[in-house]
Amino acid sequence: MKVNIIGAGITGLAAAYFLSKEGHEVNVFESATEPGGLSGFFPVEGMYLEKYYHHIFSGHTALIELMKDLHLEQEILFNKVKMGFFYEKRIYPFATARDLLTFTPLKIVDRFRLGLSSLMMMRIEDWKKMEKKTAMQWLSKYSGEEACRIIWKPLLKMKFGDNYDRISAAWLWNRVVDRKKSKEKGGAKETLGYIKTGYKILFDALVKEIKEHGGEIYTGTTIEKIAAQNGRSSGVMVNGELMNGDVVLATMPVPAFLRLAPSLPDDYVRSLKSIQYQGSTCVIIKLKKSLSDYYWINVSDPDSPFVGIIEHTHLLPSEYYGNRHLVYLTRYSSSNDPIFSKPHEEIYRDFAVYLHQIFPKFQVEEVEQHWVFQDCFSQPVFVQDYSRIMPETSTAIRNLYLLNTAQLYPESRCLNSSIVKARDVVNKMAQENGK
Ligand SMILES: Cc1cc2nc3c(=O)[nH]c(=O)nc-3n(C[C@H](O)[C@H](O)[C@H](O)COP(=O)(O)OP(=O)(O)OC[C@H]3O[C@@H](n4cnc5c(N)ncnc54)[C@H](O)[C@@H]3O)c2cc1C
Repeated sequence: MKVNIIGAGITGLAAAYFLSKEGHEVNVFESATEPGGLSGFFPVEGMYLEKYYHHIFSGHTALIELMKDLHLEQEILFNKVKMGFFYEKRIYPFATARDLLTFTPLKIVDRFRLGLSSLMMMRIEDWKKMEKKTAMQWLSKYSGEEACRIIWKPLLKMKFGDNYDRISAAWLWNRVVDRKKSKEKGGAKETLGYIKTGYKILFDALVKEIKEHGGEIYTGTTIEKIAAQNGRSSGVMVNGELMNGDVVLATMPVPAFLRLAPSLPDDYVRSLKSIQYQGSTCVIIKLKKSLSDYYWINVSDPDSPFVGIIEHTHLLPSEYYGNRHLVYLTRYSSSNDPIFSKPHEEIYRDFAVYLHQIFPKFQVEEVEQHWVFQDCFSQPVFVQDYSRIMPETSTAIRNLYLLNTAQLYPESRCLNSSIVKARDVVNKMAQENGK
């Protein structure tokens, strides 16, 4: 098969890697000047850091296997990290059952109920039943109204904004189960992994392997249109020219796919258009001093412009970055939030000034360097009964396939899930195209 792949994020490159290893001809087209997509990176202190915080759960076996295959397994470092919850001017430890039992904003009876509901969730095996309910419906029944008000509603709002009460309980179930696996038994910390030299090394290795197997990667090259005739795709349009092929795999978010897709049946387009996205904003600051000993702090404060504080240098120590401490301040908001048209300097000031409210000892002047990254379509909104509208990887055009984060459900949107799905779509393409 000759396969044209649009996008050199993890999905596009993992698919290209599997295909090229099996002897198929692949061309990967990427609009950005470098591969990586949402796991893209930038240089800092002689290293490369991701534009958006990234970590690995111990259950991310497909990613770990891929790293082994690329002889990079020694690059993964697992570390015990602390999780916190900022609520009414205080940071509470927030990782273990013991933390829940000492979480004083909740009455003791509500803490027990919260703990029991988490245990209940972990025992559930058939997520399909869960998705008939919203997360909020399930939680208010089993965790109780107080836990919903103080913990769950703020947590869901942080990720999904005003859509918080439409989110499928199956999505939450997967998050709880995933996190449970990364917690050490009886310990006070969670174990998370990171690629020591940054995710760039993974993307570099994939590119190298794909090229060695005869594949081509064209960066700085935007696909303008997917060409199709009589229900079959003939290839992709680049700089006004047709790049022909047997199969096309598109890996960008749904709204971008619809812009370059050929004419598709109305009901298929309507279904794709019903998928909504949240966008992400990450401000990264470089400091001489650490902010706290927490890796991750959920910020439950309606006045805060950000919802999470992620001190990356608790995952990979500051010694790797010339003894500097790197902190992500993150916010998820609807893709039409005015923040996406605000100047980056203004976003940075708003975030940094508010950080001082949370850590009064922190002064904005201490920030040695800062960066701001944004993406409007980083997180699909997985509403109740989402599997009804989740697109198949096969599309209405026979040899055109679609694989993106909107198909990572109920499993989390992460590199591991993209790799699993890339493997599946490659098998499907080979079967359906008879080669
Ligand atoms: C804030 C944040 C935190 C995250 N944290 C984690 C984490 O801790 N762990 C984890 O595993 N994952 C994490 N993720 C998720 C992870 O980054 C994504 O799931 C993954 O990168 C998605 O990869 P993808 O290849 O499917 O899509 P993308 O990375 O979006 O790749 C699609 C590519 O297509 C290109 N493209 C689009 N249109 C065209 C066109 N017309 N022509 C050519 N190229 C085109 C884009 O430039 C892009 O590079 C996080 C994401 C965010 C935003």
